[in-house]
Amino acid sequence: MSRFVDEFMAELKAKNPAEVEFHQAVQEVAESLEVVLDKHPIYCERKILERIAEPERVIMFRVPWIDDKGEVQVNRGFRIEMNSAIGPYKGGMRFHPSVYLGLLKFLAFEQVLKNSLTTLPMGGGKGGSDFDPKGKSDNEVMRFCQSLMTELCRHIGQFTDVPAGDIGVGGREIGFMFGQYKRVRNEFVGVLTGKGLNWGGSLIRPEATGYGAVYFAAEMLATRRETLEGKTCLVSGSGNVAQYATEKILDLGGKPVTLSDSSGYIYDEAGIDREKLAYVLELKNVKRGRISEYADTFKSAVFTARDDSKDFNPLWDHKADCAFPCATQNEVNAKDAQNLVRNGVYVITEGANMPTVPEGVELFVEKKLLYGPGKAANAGGVATSGLEMSQNSLRLNWTREEVDSRLRGIMKAIHKRCIDASAAYGFEGNYVAGANIAGFLKVADSMLDQGVV
Ligand code: NAP
Repeated sequence: MSRFVDEFMAELKAKNPAEVEFHQAVQEVAESLEVVLDKHPIYCERKILERIAEPERVIMFRVPWIDDKGEVQVNRGFRIEMNSAIGPYKGGMRFHPSVYLGLLKFLAFEQVLKNSLTTLPMGGGKGGSDFDPKGKSDNEVMRFCQSLMTELCRHIGQFTDVPAGDIGVGGREIGFMFGQYKRVRNEFVGVLTGKGLNWGGSLIRPEATGYGAVYFAAEMLATRRETLEGKTCLVSGSGNVAQYATEKILDLGGKPVTLSDSSGYIYDEAGIDREKLAYVLELKNVKRGRISEYADTFKSAVFTARDDSKDFNPLWDHKADCAFPCATQNEVNAKDAQNLVRNGVYVITEGANMPTVPEGVELFVEKKLLYGPGKAANAGGVATSGLEMSQNSLRLNWTREEVDSRLRGIMKAIHKRCIDASAAYGFEGNYVAGANIAGFLKVADSMLDQGVV
């Protein structure tokens, strides 16, 4: 590592102590950028990396609400407005008990580079709360969302900051937040994306992250003149991204065999077909049940409960061709990465954000696998949010085919940008370097143009 990166990281860690995921995300990018910074000293002179790693604004606030028993509950709400050099802040809201400042700063930092890669004019942001929607009634979720938006609505706006969904935030939560924004601000505008189809949403937005990840995998495979046809695929998670990644894998002829949630995973040797996937959608989105119930219903499947005493996740220890981590950060540890390689997996496409630990990333790159990092591979979600914003501005709705073909075109463009940037800086075939460099350059050059702000 160069002295510049060393010193930069030491300062970042001292200034942002205990924000381990944020350190991890910035370190990876800083290492990829060494060669860029050497070649263009202006970025160091103007402290572009230091500025990109410092949020433009952080909003942190109390979210009080009353549960069904009449008791007062207090959660913490956040919005990180990270960078607006190329457009309004854009990025999801996450509701999960693990949410804290450092987690959202990592996600917001990644989002800046990801949004830059999409080719659309969107800055980067992220937000959320330590609220856990699991086990809460619809009314409790509504009261929480209303309380959160009563404060958040002063800070966001269609030209300022446009949140969307993420872990724990789907159509139901976006609906409650949108309703409260409209009520308090007295304006019907596209201030959130992931909206319902009847009130400003876009076709294909729910599917976009999962579909986009599989399109990205198909692009990577095409560089070796291969397709997904007949490929066995390990998928983690069973939420929004995992569900639609599974659907698109089926569309392109692949065979998904696993899904998971935070309690464990199912392995279905016979393959998760469309009928079984429809069951999962109903189970997760309507009944809000657990993935273990899949194995009670389909006898070809085995459920393995999560076991934190193991130093690996058995989901990643099956013979397969492709892996799609679609659950959460750092879900593929160093041993999991070795297991994937040992089992013949050579296409790893990240639907989730930063699901692989740094040692795993290093191994995938060293082994020259087709490894699509989250900031490139899962950018289809935010890109389609950008398309939802365009449709809201035009006051028009595009057809499913129109949005899907734009999504496919954007994933192709992101893939090409990664390939071109990695080749231009001497990292042929390394999508991590390619995504970090291409994402950085557009934001950095825009920041240079706009002066020290
Ligand atoms: P989701 O619908 O809430 O689903 C999340 C899934 O991951 C659930 O199956 C959940 O299981 C599992 N999970 C969450 N935390 C976990 C943990 N700590 N350990 C094990 N499993 C865990 O969320 P999503 O929208 O699919 O998001 C999944 C990933 O994709 C996240 O990394 C997110 O940042 C990323 N992403 C999402 C979008 C988007 O458009 N939604 C876009 C880009 C990237 P439980 O239900 O048991 O918690």
